[in-house]
Amino acid sequence: HADPRLARISSSIRAIPDFPKKGIMFRDVTTLLLDHQAFKDSIDIFVERYQGWKIDVVAGIEARGFIFGPPIALGIGAKFVPMRKPKKLPGPVISQEYTLEYGTDRIEMHVGAVEKGERVLIIDDLIATGGTLGAAIKLVEQVGGEIVECACVIELSDLKGRDKLGDKPLYALVDYE
Ligand code: AMP
Repeated sequence: HADPRLARISSSIRAIPDFPKKGIMFRDVTTLLLDHQAFKDSIDIFVERYQGWKIDVVAGIEARGFIFGPPIALGIGAKFVPMRKPKKLPGPVISQEYTLEYGTDRIEMHVGAVEKGERVLIIDDLIATGGTLGAAIKLVEQVGGEIVECACVIELSDLKGRDKLGDKPLYALVDYE
């Protein structure tokens, strides 16, 4: 049976057509943050799931992975590590490139933030094509971290982003067409 909290979470997320460009239905989680109960429920569901998984690190992807990652990390007693857009982190970084519709992008993580053998949960707000989470997985693997799962609030399952994650499991709260 579906968790009754999911209906409120799902209806609190606003859809904005043609943003940032024509043909894209943007799923706006800022309206979830305005509903205290829905925001709290979303964090609680993740914390209930990952409690006891012995996760060392919650790695959040800029920018909206920075909203959901830290409360989950605090809730399960893990470190929080930001994965950022290029040239934002001040210390030495490792870097992973990935392909976009036009061109490439890159995410970076501080050297030493994740250590070999640490158990890592990767968080973002949404998975579309899976390119971003796929790059995050490679970044953690570069330093020998063990990815236990990737988690998102929203999955756009029609885009089959899961297939880009190889054998890494994906957990998502809500699915939109
Ligand atoms: P992707 O790499 O294609 O899986 O895209 C995931 C990233 O792009 C996430 O960081 C999302 O926040 C953002 N994103 C992609 N598509 C959407 C969408 N329809 N609505 C909101 N954010 C999106």
